[in-house]
Amino acid sequence: MKSFLPLNVRIDNKKILFIGGGKIALHKIKTVAQYTRNISIVSPEIQDELHQMGFTEIFKEYETSDLEGFFLVYACTNNIEVNRRIKNDAAEYGIMVNVVDNRELSDFISPAVIKQDEMTIAVSSNGENVKKSVEWRNKLKALVQRGYFLTRRSEPEKRGFVSIIGAGPGDPELLTIKAERVLREADVILYDDLVSSELVDRFDARKIYTGKRKDHHHYEQEAINEEIVRHALQGEKVARLKGGDPFIFGRGGEEIEALRQHGIRYEIIPGITAAHGASAYTEIPLTMRKISSSVAFCTGHPVNKIQVPDADTLVYYMVASAVHDVLDAVAAKGRDEHTMVAIVQNATRYNQKIITGTLGELRKSEQAVSSPALLILGENINQFISDNWYSKKKKVLILGEDLVGYAPDEYIKVYYPCIQSEETDHHTLEQAGAVDLNFIDEIYVSSLACIRNFRELYKDIPKKIIIKTANNYIDDEYRRLFSV
Ligand code: SAH
Repeated sequence: MKSFLPLNVRIDNKKILFIGGGKIALHKIKTVAQYTRNISIVSPEIQDELHQMGFTEIFKEYETSDLEGFFLVYACTNNIEVNRRIKNDAAEYGIMVNVVDNRELSDFISPAVIKQDEMTIAVSSNGENVKKSVEWRNKLKALVQRGYFLTRRSEPEKRGFVSIIGAGPGDPELLTIKAERVLREADVILYDDLVSSELVDRFDARKIYTGKRKDHHHYEQEAINEEIVRHALQGEKVARLKGGDPFIFGRGGEEIEALRQHGIRYEIIPGITAAHGASAYTEIPLTMRKISSSVAFCTGHPVNKIQVPDADTLVYYMVASAVHDVLDAVAAKGRDEHTMVAIVQNATRYNQKIITGTLGELRKSEQAVSSPALLILGENINQFISDNWYSKKKKVLILGEDLVGYAPDEYIKVYYPCIQSEETDHHTLEQAGAVDLNFIDEIYVSSLACIRNFRELYKDIPKKIIIKTANNYIDDEYRRLFSV
């Protein structure tokens, strides 16, 4: 019987060689790369995704002398004869080899691992039942992600801490520097519907989506409060990320109450509220000398309680299904029929859309408005609105990385979430499936994996969109996938 001893082998300053650059190598390298960057790959062809990881790459067929100077070798070719040769050559050099999926030929085998900070959990069946190892690992991983192994720390200075953070209205760059730091340092991020996956994807913390689900199961506010408290009591740094500003129609107040009840320390980091985002990105000043000297933020929900304050500029949140109710309430208050109204949908995002008209006109017409949208009303709505600075930019959908360096003053970059693993949360999946190509002017493709993934969700691309690819290889694949 073969036996394998579990070890942690020291690898700093040691070089590791992978022979083969396909899917199998990619899978192994992803694990090894969590521990070292000292990785070289020998293979005539290298997977696109591997290529982007930036390891030393030697494009050639394997030869014995390639082994020189390496500490460990992974034979990942799909040719058993080559793998066997590598094994024999390595034995001569005295180098330990892992021959992928071949316990008989391997000097060492790789356990299924979970790595978090300094902790590693490695699951092994001595190479006898890989499927079972992976199953166990996935079960354990789910537990780790739910915080099961976190020790409750008793010292007061190590108690959990909650930051209630405003994420801004959509454009990921509208995040404060403070929020950015806190999100970088967080153990766990609990985020809402209105927060874009592009923003959340920038941070490494565990992510828990607390918004509306596809199956229409809502997280009730109560359940969210409990979730925040639970993580904090485990001693974690919790980032509670909410759209816009937490204290404008954000229920931040209720979350704080729960934290107070449990004696949990917290801070509140303001965000740019949708009204400010919409105002800037549509060129509607909310106040203006001689024209508007007061502004009120109101809600269109619930419709039977719509308030119409006596302010020059009115901004209504949550109007997607209440436009007429809001307009009727305003008219009933005696506002002039000629007062200008702008409905701003998806403010600060690539798919920002503006509907304008007078109070009288919009009351008479049917408008399809989808959430999130807000309504601004007042004399400050000016002639720049349909020709604003933001709408002039071209929108480029990036599949992969922006290797071109699209200039931000000319382009709005939309990053397509290239889903690569089964662990991707459904929120990201939903956002991947919801890119509105009608708004897109150009698509730039720099990743094979990404264009393939994109093709699964989008069967064809509107003709008016310009397609650019990073190289011929990707171009061929694009043409093959979309039959053009
Ligand atoms: N706390 C948030 C508001 C949450 S209530 C803030 O400060 O912005 C949700 C409402 O916010 C939506 O119904 C919509 O009216 C508004 N909203 C949020 N993001 C928006 C966006 N990008 N564009 C237009 N309206 C938005």
